[in-house]
Amino acid sequence: AHTTAARVRRINPSPSTAAAQRVRELKSQGLVIHDLTVGEPDFDTPAHVKAAAVRAIEAGETKYTPVNGTPRLRAAIIEKLRSRHGLHYTDAQITVGGGAKQVIFLALMATLDEGDEVVVPAPYWVSYPDMVLANDGTPVIVPCSEADGFKLTPGALRGALTDRTRWVVLNTPGNPTGAAYTPDELRALAEVLLDHPRVRVLTDEIYDEIWYGDGRSRSLAVVEPRLADRVFLTNGVSKTYAMTGWRIGYGAGPADLVSAVNTLQSQMSSCPSSVSQAAAAAALTGPQDFVEETVRTYRARRDTTAKLVNDIPHLSCTPPAGGFYLLVDCADAIGLHTPDGERIADDEQFARYLLDSRQVAVIHGSAYGAPGYFRISFATSADVLTEACAGIAAACAALT
Ligand code: PLP
Repeated sequence: AHTTAARVRRINPSPSTAAAQRVRELKSQGLVIHDLTVGEPDFDTPAHVKAAAVRAIEAGETKYTPVNGTPRLRAAIIEKLRSRHGLHYTDAQITVGGGAKQVIFLALMATLDEGDEVVVPAPYWVSYPDMVLANDGTPVIVPCSEADGFKLTPGALRGALTDRTRWVVLNTPGNPTGAAYTPDELRALAEVLLDHPRVRVLTDEIYDEIWYGDGRSRSLAVVEPRLADRVFLTNGVSKTYAMTGWRIGYGAGPADLVSAVNTLQSQMSSCPSSVSQAAAAAALTGPQDFVEETVRTYRARRDTTAKLVNDIPHLSCTPPAGGFYLLVDCADAIGLHTPDGERIADDEQFARYLLDSRQVAVIHGSAYGAPGYFRISFATSADVLTEACAGIAAACAALT
């Protein structure tokens, strides 16, 4: 007899959380670790956002809010989606939750029955497949090659759709690849989706503002208005405003879906934190220079780190269009031997070798459905990045 439900036994704890835990353990043993596993900005939340939270506490905004968030925050979200994308949502089409993660989880919980399929392009954010499994669905993983920019092609999408497909997940800009779909690429995917009216698209746009390309990152709902009532757009304040600990994310989409998400939330958490919602509203409506400054810093780190990585034997990477990760190809190192005579059998062992030999912590690509790769986060200081890359270079040079 099991003491846990099948849904728990079907899933794994997040590998990034596990990696962070391993780093903490090694640090507590007194080791200096060059930590490139971190999935959150290394900046502090902007002062005016913190001040708004303090004001909310002092004003007594310390009670339950509406299930779908405070009117002020919902208005701020509607305004962001209007001014940034030209998208027009009504109040009933917005839901606010405890992070984009919770909003995505609830959207899946609200729509999946046993055996329903969710198309997840790989490399993927670690949580999508497990969230689908936890909600009785079946993830359909579609590998996307580096030659295709790690992006889903219309042909691959068409091939993955079945009568059971409920959702396609599109994470753009993506974690761990940093790849972003161009308007033309989104249009081509939309053409396929227009032939499948029962399929909805979950767009995860959490890295939309951390963007290095020309213009702005694009949203499927903007590019193909005919799909707008089938797109559930998710985003949040975690990455853009260095607010991961505040736990506020949101979803915008069809009112029936939003209402179902709200029903679940009403029984699960009642509402997200009132104080955090006040802070998130201030982040969305206040001055945006924090975003510009941090993106400038991320961009400089991206350029330096990509160059350092591409100078290392056996490794290569494509600088990402958005986000703060580099997905590094280490396939060339697999099969080589460490100075201890150990054979590097796969990306997981490669990551372990970097940690054991040079105290550099990265996350192996297999965790993201990207075997033969590893992920570097450049949401850390230039010094750590330089030292870590020197360590990786030395580790690679020692392979035979
Ligand atoms: N989506 C992607 C692609 C992410 O990388 C993350 C965080 O790592 C999230 C969603 C979760 O963000 P939140 O803090 O809003 O739950």
